[in-house]
Amino acid sequence: MRRSRLPPGGDPPGTPRLGGLPAPPNPPGPGAPDGGPSLLRTSKLVKVYRADGITVEAVRGVDFELAMGEFVAIMGPSGSGKSTLLHVLGGLEPATSGEIWLRGRRVDGLSTAGWAVLRRQHIGFVFQFFNLLSNMTVADNVELPALLAGATPRQARNRREELLAELGIADKAGAAPARLSGGEQQRVALARALANEPSVLLADEPTGNLDSSNTRDVLRLLRRAHDGGQAILMVTHDARVASLADRVINLFDGMVADDAKIVPIPRTMNGVADVLELRG
Ligand code: ADP
Repeated sequence: MRRSRLPPGGDPPGTPRLGGLPAPPNPPGPGAPDGGPSLLRTSKLVKVYRADGITVEAVRGVDFELAMGEFVAIMGPSGSGKSTLLHVLGGLEPATSGEIWLRGRRVDGLSTAGWAVLRRQHIGFVFQFFNLLSNMTVADNVELPALLAGATPRQARNRREELLAELGIADKAGAAPARLSGGEQQRVALARALANEPSVLLADEPTGNLDSSNTRDVLRLLRRAHDGGQAILMVTHDARVASLADRVINLFDGMVADDAKIVPIPRTMNGVADVLELRG
């Protein structure tokens, strides 16, 4: 049974969220690979970069589904399109063609402003380099997304206190981000991404530059968020991180090379090689 401390990836129809938006009635599509209702879905998604006469096909026809509350890791060699896919799914880059559906709504045609609203309400984004606002305190960094999503100042403060306490950094609330260690900044970035109770957390190599102790902290947090029902889509090179996921998708040359479900780990097993069951 999942705990309910952190927000679930989806709500019963009509459930008001922090931002006051009701959940959609019935998401379209055949449902995610684990049989659960689909939260995020793409069809024939393509992203082509064109600059200075050079064309790069970074994402080449990706069909993908993420179920409510599902944790999917995206792996693959450098340059295979992982970050691009995440950025397109978060509306940070426009898709060249194909479809993106979020919570039952087609979103690939949204304007920049439309994506900004969607992100405020439904998408948490963790960048590799944290992107914390340096002229604001940790507390303000974490409260801002909730306020932008329509929370009252009291709700935003309560949410911030809850998240920072859960991450063991409540005492850093008044600090400037620059005064924190890399691991602490990473936890603040995760708290900020979770502050608006997003339907989906998009994370680009959240342990990319961390030492093993800080990596453990971030993994513990991701596991806790996932146990709380948070849907997560995460780019990683780290097999330990990927082994926390429900599924691992491997990208190669902008396409899905394989899609592997993680088999629950008996305590006697070790290593990601033992827990991957390749599904074609
Ligand atoms: P990965 O995250 O797997 O390392 P990326 O998504 O960063 O891969 O890059 C996929 C391909 O797209 C690479 O060939 C990269 O050089 C290219 N690319 C990424 N971003 C841009 C950009 N803004 N302009 C042009 N090409 C880009």
